[in-house]
Amino acid sequence: MTVIDPRDDLRLTFWGVRGSIPTPGEHTLRYGGETTCLEIQAGPHLLIIDCGSGARRLGWHMDQRRQVQPADLLFTHFHLDHICGLPFFCPAYSERFDIKVWAGHVPRDGSLEEMLARLMSPPLFPVPTTALRGCQFRRFTAGEAVGLRPGLTVKTIQLNHPGGATGYRIEWGGGSIVTVTDHEHGNPEIDAAVARFVEGADIMVYDATYRDEEYGRYVGWGHSTWQKAVALADKAGVRHPVMFHHDPCRTDDDLDRIAEQARARHPGAIVARQGLELVAGAAPVEAG
Ligand SMILES: [Zn+2]
Ligand SMILES: [Zn+2]
Repeated sequence: MTVIDPRDDLRLTFWGVRGSIPTPGEHTLRYGGETTCLEIQAGPHLLIIDCGSGARRLGWHMDQRRQVQPADLLFTHFHLDHICGLPFFCPAYSERFDIKVWAGHVPRDGSLEEMLARLMSPPLFPVPTTALRGCQFRRFTAGEAVGLRPGLTVKTIQLNHPGGATGYRIEWGGGSIVTVTDHEHGNPEIDAAVARFVEGADIMVYDATYRDEEYGRYVGWGHSTWQKAVALADKAGVRHPVMFHHDPCRTDDDLDRIAEQARARHPGAIVARQGLELVAGAAPVEAG
């Protein structure tokens, strides 16, 4: 029997799996309607990827936890579905927290705080970014390796998306998680770089907004398909391609069908749902 030391765990929790806009309602109860927010626990390190509407509940949970953990919040990009939860992410306002906020697509003549201030300023929102007392803002260039904390470096990549987006690769204790969202396949150079980037990963969270059959209507919108996720996983030796950034029109039944079809092509395929917890490593398991 293999005993897994919890300090070596690499654990991923989905707090929001939807793209574009929150989609509450009777047809999205099982997979969830909150927009993108991932929590990754890498041994003692807490990483958060994106602050979509799902970040509100993550923030509440972080506030309830007995131990306050320093955290790194990594933005993939600044489209609304990925940042709209920031003004409602309560740890960001509290000096009890130490949150380093990072992004790889800040214009050279601007700052990350200025980018976020476009959302958090009148007339869009009454509370300014200066109220985010738990946060420090950092920047990098997508494609660089970023040293977040002593002992924790993440690799990053430039994805194919209007205005750019950053993919992340987190490795810890023998496990690996990569995120490829938001991203559109079809640029040969970027596709080849993405295939190298995700090579051999345990878990690949992938922008599966569309199906191949409907993609033709959305060329250039910056998203990919579940079939491309599965094909990439095959090519790059990814163990678990995870369909993510679900189209707001996708119902629970639609996603069940995609899960079934995807598993028929790749036994490790998973469709992300809110609340799902995955452990990466020698024997990735669904923890919840
Ligand atoms: Zn998006
Ligand atoms: Zn986007």
